[in-house]
Amino acid sequence: MRRPLMAGNWKMYRTTHEAVELVRTLRNLVSLVRDVDVIVAPPFTALPAVAKALDESRIGLAAQDVHPAAEGAYTGNVSAAMLKDVGCTSVIVGHSERREYHGETDALIHDKAKAALGAGLLPIVCVGEKLEVRQANRTMDLIRTQIEGVLAGFGQDEVSRLVIAYEPVWAIGTGQTATPAQAQEVHLFIRRLVSERFGADTAAGLRILYGGSVKPDNIDSLMREPDVDGALVGGASLKADSFARIVKFQRI
Ligand code: PEP
Repeated sequence: MRRPLMAGNWKMYRTTHEAVELVRTLRNLVSLVRDVDVIVAPPFTALPAVAKALDESRIGLAAQDVHPAAEGAYTGNVSAAMLKDVGCTSVIVGHSERREYHGETDALIHDKAKAALGAGLLPIVCVGEKLEVRQANRTMDLIRTQIEGVLAGFGQDEVSRLVIAYEPVWAIGTGQTATPAQAQEVHLFIRRLVSERFGADTAAGLRILYGGSVKPDNIDSLMREPDVDGALVGGASLKADSFARIVKFQRI
């Protein structure tokens, strides 16, 4: 019932020319895929050119961040309406690199998700624990705090129009993927939390992506878990063939 979603986060990689090359190749490689949603998130500078290269394709376009305000004196920032204007359908909010290097809080991430929803964009809301939190057995407490903080004030309607990405910080860019069982445990916990707050139907329809060193050789086992609905992919999304293999995951 939940359509798998594979999203590629290109971070601060690829000039406009490189981004267009990458997305053209990807587009060809996944042209026959019908049952999986695919999204790419290039840097801001490449968004208009990639939007053009994706014209008439089923691949969605995401930004990697958004400012919560509609407009204003916020030097260096971009609004949800501006993202919509250049062809975005989605936006990543609360990535751990933004939490870490830009001091983003759950309250700010809530406001960003709200702005995205207001503009008709699909927010991909990231949560995840650092290594010391996992080692101290406090993962579920931290995930609860993040989910409650980001979703506080939303209703069923808003939660049904967003996606959660569980990205353990210790697994991002490290090559150390969470085991399928570790991912499933947290995904199920998130789904139960959402069920308690927003009802069973909202929880059953919520897509929860796993992120953290997802590669062609581990996507199949991750996608076999019942509560893993897709992936948010960093490094492996920068090569068209590896991301295409992830999009074409095999459940058996
Ligand atoms: C990410 O950037 O969200 C990510 C999961 O990166 P990587 O796949 O490289 O670990």
